[in-house]
Amino acid sequence: MKFIKPKTHKKCPRCGNKCLINQTRCEECDLLFSRLEFASNKAAKKKLKKFDSDFVIYTTQYPKDVNWYKLMAMTFFTGIFGGHYYYTGKYIKGLIMTLCFIYALFCTIFNDVLWSSMESFLYIPIGLEGIAWIVSLIYVCCKKYKVPVIVEMPDENATEILDKETEKKVKEFKDEVKEIKKQNKEKKKELNQDLKEENQVEDKGQK
Ligand SMILES: [Zn+2]
Repeated sequence: MKFIKPKTHKKCPRCGNKCLINQTRCEECDLLFSRLEFASNKAAKKKLKKFDSDFVIYTTQYPKDVNWYKLMAMTFFTGIFGGHYYYTGKYIKGLIMTLCFIYALFCTIFNDVLWSSMESFLYIPIGLEGIAWIVSLIYVCCKKYKVPVIVEMPDENATEILDKETEKKVKEFKDEVKEIKKQNKEKKKELNQDLKEENQVEDKGQK
């Protein structure tokens, strides 16, 4: 028998408000959750390039135009100079990473002169860059790395249909649970019957 423990809450990606899992809309900021399926990282990137962060949401629910495997590879192979930041549209962080990388490269090339005479605080950017890379890797692996997206607004009719779809899914899930409960009951009944029959046979044997 499978034990079903449904997830009861989720976090709103826009405002962080704790919502019930079958809620279709965030009470706090009015975000329609079904719209997240149509979120676009491409649109967010376009906006962020112009330093415009209005309506940009940071979420761990990856949109269709962000491939997790690709993001993983990008972080692993190019993360040291901020490749994953450029891929997901976090350009400022990416630029900082690149500058730190160039700085580290520079320090390595002129190693003989620099390393020995460098003050300890001059190593800080290199250390921070390494830490940022490792942290990013862990976050991407655990799917906790947040991606900026823009939730495109479909017309009202489409929204209504989506809401209905979500409701349908919730209903299906409830039906499933009911079915499992029913099956369990039947099994119990059968077991009881078997036991009864066995007892009867035993009784006859004794007589
Ligand atoms: Zn919200």
